[in-house]
Amino acid sequence: MSFLDSRIYVAGHRGMVGSALVRAIHERGGKNVLTATHAELDLRRQADVESWLGQNKPDTVILAAAKVGGIHANSTYPADFIYDNLMMAANVIHAAYSSGVKRLLFLGSSCIYPRLAPQPMPEDCLLTGPLEGTNEAYALAKIAGLKLCQHYRNQYGVTFHSAMPTNLYGPGDNYHPDNSHVIPGLLRRFHEAKVNQAEAVTVWGTGTPLREFLHVDDLAEACLHLLELDNPPDWVNVGSGQECSIGELALTVKRVVGYEGELRFDTTKPDGTPRKLLDSHLIQNLGWKPRVPLEEGLREAYAAFVSTL
Ligand code: GDP
Repeated sequence: MSFLDSRIYVAGHRGMVGSALVRAIHERGGKNVLTATHAELDLRRQADVESWLGQNKPDTVILAAAKVGGIHANSTYPADFIYDNLMMAANVIHAAYSSGVKRLLFLGSSCIYPRLAPQPMPEDCLLTGPLEGTNEAYALAKIAGLKLCQHYRNQYGVTFHSAMPTNLYGPGDNYHPDNSHVIPGLLRRFHEAKVNQAEAVTVWGTGTPLREFLHVDDLAEACLHLLELDNPPDWVNVGSGQECSIGELALTVKRVVGYEGELRFDTTKPDGTPRKLLDSHLIQNLGWKPRVPLEEGLREAYAAFVSTL
């Protein structure tokens, strides 16, 4: 029996990742998706999580709820990032186990790996060196989530496992001017500059950091693929292999938006980790590959953003 026939709780269904997962489950014929809004269930509250899972009894849990943000938000609100994400991971993973859930997929992030990890970063470089300072708080919470899954699996025999996506983008992203990730941040800034006929657009940092970008629909397919495996790896990287510098990304966004002014780099803003490219051989050998080329995905994301204005 496919997990698609089971009762699937998608935690975080209003976020970019959770909403892509719900779309993908429905497209594949899944009919039993359970959700709860933040107002209905605050995942930071242990008793509430235990009672909701006890009453709703899902068979499968996908933990896509998280407090997320870009480099500025992560370094400005580290206490919120570590507390919220640790509580959500601990509460959902433990309550899933105690309410009889046998299958759980936890969503992490490529920032769990050391700042100066070998590139591309293989799964086994976890915990081999210090983390990048700008997102250490978030990364520690995600490492704890991954390790909770691994230890519950080892001790209790439940199939709890994790996927570690690279930098994501797509429909439903957060376009906050300061707190977003680089792609939505630049799409908004170039769009506003085009509309206001501004002379130049400011890009944070030096433009030299290298980042890999994955469309969220590709991640959703990877998650469903992992959930179909009887014996998935404890954690697996999900990257696109599409890497570019922030300077190159800014030029691509400029072209996609159709802005004709100049670029300026604000080197008082942090660069973050110099390079963050995942080694995605493991998931590719398990039969998944990315489909959406970066520029095509950016055009689609831009159209989706403009339609929300
Ligand atoms: P990171 O991958 O954790 O560093 O997260 P981000 O997506 O926030 O930032 C990636 C890189 O893009 C960093 O080097 C940022 O300094 C750079 N960057 C350039 N312009 C922007 C922007 O407008 N917003 C964000 N978030 N990052 C930007």
